[in-house]
Amino acid sequence: MVSHDPVVSLHSVAEAFLYLMAARCTGCGFGPLKPQGNLTRTSHCAAPWRLLAECPQCGRCEPVSFLIDPVPTREQARSAVVNPTALRSRAIDLEGWVTLFQTILAAAGEQRDRALSREVLSEALSCLEEALKFYGPGEDLPGGDAFFNEASRKGFLAHPERYARGIWEQRRAILVGTLGRTEAHAPPRRWYQFWRK
Ligand SMILES: [Zn+2]
Repeated sequence: MVSHDPVVSLHSVAEAFLYLMAARCTGCGFGPLKPQGNLTRTSHCAAPWRLLAECPQCGRCEPVSFLIDPVPTREQARSAVVNPTALRSRAIDLEGWVTLFQTILAAAGEQRDRALSREVLSEALSCLEEALKFYGPGEDLPGGDAFFNEASRKGFLAHPERYARGIWEQRRAILVGTLGRTEAHAPPRRWYQFWRK
């Protein structure tokens, strides 16, 4: 579901935290991983960002190195925008974004606070938008390069109907409609700020 490059390419700071949520522990396979502290700058220009990821199951703690393009400004680092470009993610594959969408959508349903629920729904929508970037113009099914590893690819080959573009476009339309009917009451927060509680 995620790239295992030694330095993972991102489009935003927010994507680093979603990456941990889609990643699995290299020791025991458990997920999601929890961020320990903040994303920090390093002195290595090939791997300028670093985030410690802890497995809540076995306690394994490993640093993950990132490259972020475009380089985030201070304001963008606080933004919930997952990908300001039209390019598909290189950190999380289609399977990863669909799984994140479903997980975050379920979390929104459990939120009692309406304003928070709306923010979580917006995060779910961002994940769905990222998933849809893996479909080429006019393509109803994604290409093999939409999946970053064998397990994701096998899942697609076993159930290609689950990846029909129309399904996810319809879900996006419903979600956009739901968000359009509710007003934003609270300043935007990142999903992990309340997810970790
Ligand atoms: Zn583990």
